[in-house]
Amino acid sequence: MLIKGSHILDIATGSYTLQDIRIEAGLFSEMGALRSRVGEQVINGDGLYMIPGLMDCHCHISANYASLFLAAGITTVRNTAGNHLLLSSIREAEAHEAVPRLITADRMIDGTPGSWGETSHGSLSTDDLEEAKEEVKRQVETGVDFIKVYSKITEEMLKEVIKESKRNHLDVSADLLGADSLDAKVAVEAGVRFLEHNSGIMQMLHPGWHMNASDDLYEPVLQPPNEEEIARVLQPLLARDTILVPTMELFKQAADYPNHRVSDRFISPSLLQVWEQTTPHVSSWRFQAIFTYTKAITRVYHQLGGTVLAGTDSPAIIFTNPGASLHRELMLLTQSGLSPYEALKSATIVPARVLNRPDLGEIKRGNHADFVLLKEDPLKHIENVSKIAIIGKGGQCYSQAELFAQAESDEKIHIDEQEFMSRWQQHLDLGMYDRLCEKYWIGTLDE
Ligand SMILES: [Zn+2]
Repeated sequence: MLIKGSHILDIATGSYTLQDIRIEAGLFSEMGALRSRVGEQVINGDGLYMIPGLMDCHCHISANYASLFLAAGITTVRNTAGNHLLLSSIREAEAHEAVPRLITADRMIDGTPGSWGETSHGSLSTDDLEEAKEEVKRQVETGVDFIKVYSKITEEMLKEVIKESKRNHLDVSADLLGADSLDAKVAVEAGVRFLEHNSGIMQMLHPGWHMNASDDLYEPVLQPPNEEEIARVLQPLLARDTILVPTMELFKQAADYPNHRVSDRFISPSLLQVWEQTTPHVSSWRFQAIFTYTKAITRVYHQLGGTVLAGTDSPAIIFTNPGASLHRELMLLTQSGLSPYEALKSATIVPARVLNRPDLGEIKRGNHADFVLLKEDPLKHIENVSKIAIIGKGGQCYSQAELFAQAESDEKIHIDEQEFMSRWQQHLDLGMYDRLCEKYWIGTLDE
């Protein structure tokens, strides 16, 4: 395939060159002034801006709405927890298929009482160090890319989980929003590399506060954040190159309810239903306080040279539409002191480097041909990332219209929850919980 005459962004330098680009076997193969070959598919890129495919660095994907991410130009997702079993169709998809590439954790490892209830297919809630360690081993065998821990984990268990993860060369990511015994400093000193939602930092600023704290503990966080104080508490994170994934869009949508934004071109009807059921439980003023802090922490960390990744937590809480919410997160990043270029990097080359995926995040020879052709320049206005002409993944080109149509039909595929739960139960009953690779037992149970 040959794409003629687009402005191709070198994301490493922030400069465009007007040239042609050839894609072969799913990879970028040649750039320059190129002639088309006999029988070669040619795309006219005249007046278009080619950027690397985007990455949503914190989300929870499902086969039901996977194509919506791609429709927004997201060619890779970092899936921060969710049962590996439910992801098999995405994990096993061919490079050119209409779903994003997957970098994923399995169910989260939590202490007791579990933030999401008792142990289930989605989370392990335990006080037993040995059980937590065995869970890491089980997840390693299923082929996870990193380990996710949750708010109720104790420092002792966290250290055990990190030790086992490091032995297997896996990073540990933490969500500490609801933590009442840990904060970000303790977590990063123990070896946590990623802090999802900038979490654990508010606890350093206001000891005693956590997301589910009583209203009176929210009093101090209703005051404007003190950026000098934030800079002080961020020092141990900076010293360790901790990576922050703010997910401001998550908090913003909840804070703005009922004036949240739902003007996306396609919204998943089944997610809309879930969100509508959630809205009575959303306490906007609490999310407003968390949003204000998350934004201030992002601004200061970025100013101090810390690494920030673009993620959304889609489809969590309310109206975090898969795909479109990343465009809003990029806007929020520019409102937090990043330039449009820096915001774009936080969804492309920076995660590719941090996640050790040099084959992604950059338009260069030998990389996967994942890209977006935009009608206007996103370095001028970051909002232009949503003006999509063509999406390319693994060398296959898609229009937004066809991906929205696919999303509509995928709505009908919904995963049969009862069927899934009975399989999970058999998995537990057969004592295969600990050490068995998922592929094996799915095969067994399918027979
Ligand atoms: Zn999440």
